Amino acid sequence: MQMREDDWQGDPNDYLKQYVNNQRKDYEIHISEILCPNCFRTNLHQVDEHDYHCEVCAYDFIKVNNAIRFK
Ligand SMILES: [Zn+2]
Repeated sequence: MQMREDDWQGDPNDYLKQYVNNQRKDYEIHISEILCPNCFRTNLHQVDEHDYHCEVCAYDFIKVNNAIRFK
């Protein structure tokens, strides 16, 4: 991480907090509202337009006609 002194006049800790929050936002975008149809323990991560992945059971899924199918 490069801190640009010209752009940031505040507390370095605040800068870091803001940076972490932005990272978290990016991460959440990729979690879909689809519950894993295999383990039912977590929501699927959307990795591509039609591709989904479960972090818990490590299965890959594909969305076909609004239905989630095993790959
Ligand atoms: Zn799963």
